[in-house]
Amino acid sequence: MKPTLSMTPMLDRMSHLRGQPDKIANIMHSVQSRFLIVIDGRPVISSNVDRTEASLKWQRWETVASFIANGANWAFLGREAKSGETFFAVFLTGLHVPPSGAPELATDTPFSPAVDLRSLATQGVITPEEQSLAGQATALANWHINSRCCGRCGAKTRSDNAGWRRTCWSCGRTAFPRMDPAVIMLVTDGARAVLAHEARFPENMYSTLAGFVEPGDDVAHAVRRETFEEVGLTVGRVEFLGAQPWPFPHTLMLGCLAHAESADLSPDPTEIEDARWFSRADLKQMNNKTHPDGLWFPGAQSIAYALIMHFLNNV
Ligand SMILES: [Zn+2]
Repeated sequence: MKPTLSMTPMLDRMSHLRGQPDKIANIMHSVQSRFLIVIDGRPVISSNVDRTEASLKWQRWETVASFIANGANWAFLGREAKSGETFFAVFLTGLHVPPSGAPELATDTPFSPAVDLRSLATQGVITPEEQSLAGQATALANWHINSRCCGRCGAKTRSDNAGWRRTCWSCGRTAFPRMDPAVIMLVTDGARAVLAHEARFPENMYSTLAGFVEPGDDVAHAVRRETFEEVGLTVGRVEFLGAQPWPFPHTLMLGCLAHAESADLSPDPTEIEDARWFSRADLKQMNNKTHPDGLWFPGAQSIAYALIMHFLNNV
């Protein structure tokens, strides 16, 4: 695995403490604890007005205590070894938050602005460390939101184990935070690589192909199947390069280089608006934002960027 593709979380998660509520409570009340408020799956940040710079907005216990006392879900994220600080996420909904305005407005309260982490990650405006923390918190937030009822009997569930497990009140079934594996692949013929534009992408942004791993797939099979479905190319050799958690809602992206054995692109119009072969010269222009048609690709925090850089530098 190439370390440039790794987005490994920086925290010691101290998972052995999750089942010890007294110890977790002591940590929560300590002056070294920090709380990230996540509202409807969106972390609260500090940023400049045009949002070219941003950081997570960490709160003290006093700000979140009443929400937790009133039953808000939360999770213990872990401890940062150097500083000794411990990190938690508190999951609120719009109903919890004081009616001071829409949470996406850029006002400076503990509850705003709450922003879509996907756009922050795509634009690359927060540090990899904070993206990792926010990703951990956001994936857990999404899982709690989507797991309020038992998958077996339909009764309500409760959060326990410091936010890392939900247990059904009725039948006792336990559920754990899930990750959905997906493949993300740069398809290459050696000299060129395929990038595609989906209708949901920002204007002129092209990115690598991607798709979910389905039951019965292995990674290489998923790469070949998705590439054929999306752009009609046949893929031979598949190299796994590294992985990145992508918390939308809780995906693990498996980054691969896919060696094409055919060249004619026939994009699936239901998913792909346009797909093209790009030369290294094209990709360098896109990276420098000097492409004659204004085309560009996702920024340095994304695994798509790491795959493209790998192609530019190593293949
Ligand atoms: Zn149940």
